[in-house]
Amino acid sequence: STASNKGAKDESVRVVVRCRPMSDKEQDSGCERVVDMDGQQKQVTLRRPRSEGSQRMSNSGEDVHNFYFDYVYDWNSKQKDVYEQTARALVDSVLEGFNGTIFAYGQTGTGKTFTMEGIRSQPELRGIIPSSFAHIFDSISRSTSRQFLVRASYLEIYNESIRDLLSRDQNKRLQLQEHPKEGVHVHDLSSFITKNSPEIEHVMTTGNLNRSTGATNMNEHSSRSHAIFVITVESSEIGVDGKPHIRVGKLNLVDLAGSERQAKTGSTGDRFKEATNINLSLSVLGNVISALVDGNSHVPYRDSKLTRLLQNSLGGNSKTIMIATLGPANYNYEESLTTLRYANRAK
Ligand code: ADP
Ligand code: MG
Repeated sequence: STASNKGAKDESVRVVVRCRPMSDKEQDSGCERVVDMDGQQKQVTLRRPRSEGSQRMSNSGEDVHNFYFDYVYDWNSKQKDVYEQTARALVDSVLEGFNGTIFAYGQTGTGKTFTMEGIRSQPELRGIIPSSFAHIFDSISRSTSRQFLVRASYLEIYNESIRDLLSRDQNKRLQLQEHPKEGVHVHDLSSFITKNSPEIEHVMTTGNLNRSTGATNMNEHSSRSHAIFVITVESSEIGVDGKPHIRVGKLNLVDLAGSERQAKTGSTGDRFKEATNINLSLSVLGNVISALVDGNSHVPYRDSKLTRLLQNSLGGNSKTIMIATLGPANYNYEESLTTLRYANRAK
């Protein structure tokens, strides 16, 4: 659809694309780059590889695909640029009492975790989550009229079951509950009050440790589960009526499961169920976002745990950012095309 037939709803969902640099291994083996990015035109171009080699043959469709997004970030982009241009305004609105969600979507190995978390020990490489910590506590320290309370939770959805990454009991599975007033919430989810950046950093570190402890293979685990870091910002201010006015904003920072097609042939039993669940929750998320963008009256939140859990933070007054991540190399062509089409649908 064209820009003109979309209403104000458009404003609440932003879709950006980021392509990581070639890895040393890709460079050394002489991979061809098939992605071009034009930051000015906000355009991504994907070219079908010249030599398909071992790649899956597909003779249908165009050889060059152009897509346009709200922002595009190439392999030279800095963490800071991504934060300032895409995340900052959303985090500001959370401080004002609105809900917001930032997703990283893409094939495993394309930079979802780099974009969301980054490398926390290196100031320049800190991703959106630690940058939001600094932003939130910095804003709070400069506020003179409001009292703030910041709480953090960290959870994971694996195979449609919810694990509290901050709980002492890592075998416990949590349930979603529907509150008449508060809407959908995770029953019994831990949350920690944090007064400054080091405290919330510590919460994240604890959750990450729990995440990897339960997994025999961390790479495989993170490619199959969604990790959600939740920051709730409550503030109160004395109004002109002399009474305290309370606002609550929730920020959901989501590192999604890998979008790569899960092998269905050959996998049976639990593995098959798991693969189906990953594909399902990502496709439901795509359906939900595209229903919101199109202004459909039916939004299929209930079709997956992920979208049910985020129901109060997607649509309505909430802001959503989808960051789709790509690899630049030829052998990622098919997956990159799938990612760009998915992201394009969310606009
Ligand atoms: P994912 O979480 O999508 O599986 P990662 O974030 O783990 O992918 O990234 C895979 C590798 O690529 C990591 O070594 C990461 O540091 C590197 N990487 C990803 N994106 C970038 C980027 N924009 N700039 C530099 N290195 C990156
Ligand atoms: Mg990752």
